[in-house]
Amino acid sequence: MSNLWTRVERLFGSENLSRLAEKKVGVIGLGSGGGFVALSLAMSGVGNFALVDNDVIEAGNVTRHVGDLRHVGQNKAAAVADLIRNRNRDAIVDVREGSIQDYWEILDDIDILVVGVDNEQVKYAINEKCLEKRLSASYAGVYERGEGGDHVIIKPFDGPCYACWSEATREGVKITMDSVGDLDYGMIGEAGTLEAEPGLWVNVTKIAGIQTDLILNELLRGSAVYEEMPANTIIVTNTSLDVIEGQENDPHSSIWVDIQRDPDCLVCGERLKQGVSILVQEDAGGISLDDLAASDLMTDIVIEEDEAED
Ligand SMILES: [Zn+2]
Repeated sequence: MSNLWTRVERLFGSENLSRLAEKKVGVIGLGSGGGFVALSLAMSGVGNFALVDNDVIEAGNVTRHVGDLRHVGQNKAAAVADLIRNRNRDAIVDVREGSIQDYWEILDDIDILVVGVDNEQVKYAINEKCLEKRLSASYAGVYERGEGGDHVIIKPFDGPCYACWSEATREGVKITMDSVGDLDYGMIGEAGTLEAEPGLWVNVTKIAGIQTDLILNELLRGSAVYEEMPANTIIVTNTSLDVIEGQENDPHSSIWVDIQRDPDCLVCGERLKQGVSILVQEDAGGISLDDLAASDLMTDIVIEEDEAED
């Protein structure tokens, strides 16, 4: 490793820097948030990436993207890969131009997934795949006009899944924004994306910077520099904002909230969790799929046979 990394090494220590160089991060959606996170992880020493995006950079994107006018017309994943290689010549970047639905295999050998897509339905599909593959995933959201945002790392069957989490952050925590009337964070548009005016680059990258820092922390879990966070979700404000109804937060402040798993969640609820643990035993030669099918665990859920063989 060249002296390019002297300063990062002083922060993390050489052992942890080597550890980061071995890590592989998947990023689905290389927009303003995902692109910034991927590049920032590379600049912090992460050595391997799988980047997936089906979109190209347009001139209108460059005020809110790590890519610039040189990248207009290029696929976003390819553009971010180019930027990463120009910061870290040793980085290995696997670029997939297209939809994640065509590239699920990238989830098989990564350490953590960054979900940078806007579409809620796609996020739900990714959530189910991550549970199936026991993969942790980082989700960040930026609110209307960049007034604030939030971040959570979803760990499979340890705390909420993304379905539990988004249900709770929409209805339980009641994130509301005074200046936009009754338009809530959880309001989903016809295209399945959050109905929101995009924020400025600085507002987006503040959330994405915190996201990057928390991903690095997770990648260094078990090391001396790892820090236990106060809760699973951080909500950050850029302006004065009612994060929890009736409780106004100052501009540029943050609060931590612990979002709980919903035991009745249709995606990760108790019954499915039991089914999964039986499948794990089945992998080890314990219980057959026929036995599972005969049990009442299969009443509501369908577990495909090939999933049990993964
Ligand atoms: Zn759930």
